[in-house]
Amino acid sequence: MDIRYWNREIETIERKELEKYQLENLKETVFWALKTPFYKERLNTAGIFSPDDIKKISDIKKIPYTTKDDLRSAYPDNLLAVPKEEVVRLHASSGTTGTPTVIYHTQRDMDRWTELVARSVTMIGCGKSDVFQNMMTYGLFTGGIGLHYGAEKAGLMVIPISSGNTKRQFKFMKDFRTTLVHATPSYMLHMYSKLEEEGYSLSDFSLKKSLGGAEPHSEDMRKKIESLFGIDMYNNYGLSEMNGPCVATECLFKDDMHVWEDSYYLELINPDTLDEAKEGETGELVFTTLRRQATPLLRYRTRDLSMINPKPCACGRTHRRITRIKGRTDDMLIINGVNVFPSQIEEIIMKMPEVGTNYLIVVEKSGALDKLTVKTEVGPSIFSDDARDLNALRQKIRENIKAAISISPNVELHEPGVLPVHEGKAKRVLDDRKNI
Ligand code: AMP
Ligand code: ZN
Repeated sequence: MDIRYWNREIETIERKELEKYQLENLKETVFWALKTPFYKERLNTAGIFSPDDIKKISDIKKIPYTTKDDLRSAYPDNLLAVPKEEVVRLHASSGTTGTPTVIYHTQRDMDRWTELVARSVTMIGCGKSDVFQNMMTYGLFTGGIGLHYGAEKAGLMVIPISSGNTKRQFKFMKDFRTTLVHATPSYMLHMYSKLEEEGYSLSDFSLKKSLGGAEPHSEDMRKKIESLFGIDMYNNYGLSEMNGPCVATECLFKDDMHVWEDSYYLELINPDTLDEAKEGETGELVFTTLRRQATPLLRYRTRDLSMINPKPCACGRTHRRITRIKGRTDDMLIINGVNVFPSQIEEIIMKMPEVGTNYLIVVEKSGALDKLTVKTEVGPSIFSDDARDLNALRQKIRENIKAAISISPNVELHEPGVLPVHEGKAKRVLDDRKNI
């Protein structure tokens, strides 16, 4: 295996050394945080008046958690730690209604983020010989531009094509012999379904790898994308509050995602008790920025559920890994008292070869009870077959889902192209219960 490092020293740093480095940087982060009106009050109330009140890394526990609502309440600049003249970039969160959450960056912040991206694209085996077509939306959302500068720094030829316009994506992939794409998993599947219609075939392309992230997806969805395109797909996790993409990325071994722990202090908590999750438990990821000036964030609750994999990795990197995101504490559905993660349903659908790539989970009221409907697309040939085959497939999907989540859903099968397609993040759940 062709294991490459962008910054070998820091990527393979001994854990003891890493902890020293983290402590130094946490102190610096507290220094910057105390400059913001928001944290000055918060930290003073918690008995922290200077960086020297942090003596060991576990002192981080004295600091209260920060939430998305805190960020909103600090809008527009109560979390800004440097004079405005030092700020070179602003990003705001995607897709939220009401007050956005804003993150400012100094040039030093940008350089450090760029380095993390360069490390990440090198980690998946890419470099100067790669042509990188970045299909994530460029703009306030960090998915597009967030990857851009780090990929350039690592020497890739970057095509900043942004999202959408599938026909043009294909043309560029073919004409410039794109080897790496960055796209949401749902957009990858959408592209595959359009290939023939747009007059292309896989042999027109030179695609080798994809970086996929921004939305939850299962291991089976990854495998489906890999086998459809004949490529390797690497999971990439991030959130705009922690800069954006490349907080954690899979290495060539594709076995959980390395968190860049020199830049993000990682904690995992039980979202109900807020205590540290025990080893082997699923919990909510909590991150502290360790190398950011303009908007330092302390113990930020991501709402993303994952597990820490503390085992050493064969790639030699010492930064711990987190498992695929299992869902968010706030996207969990409770259907007639049963907790259901949409990702559980997706996993089943993606495992079934007869089923297509697009689906929608609908939850609505039927009398006093909740009703779950799973709508999914299947290949056109199934519709020309005997109606008994359709019924049998419906029944099979229903039984498989029932076995996993102990709820028996209604299953609707549709022809390709019937369900809504999203070029950005896919909306897979329609919860209509609130309207009744
Ligand atoms: P945003 O701040 O708009 O970039 O959204 C960040 C959120 O997208 C995260 O908190 C996650 O819930 C989700 N997300 C990003 N990357 C992934 C990924 N690789 N797998 C699952 N969810 C992801
Ligand atoms: Zn590794």
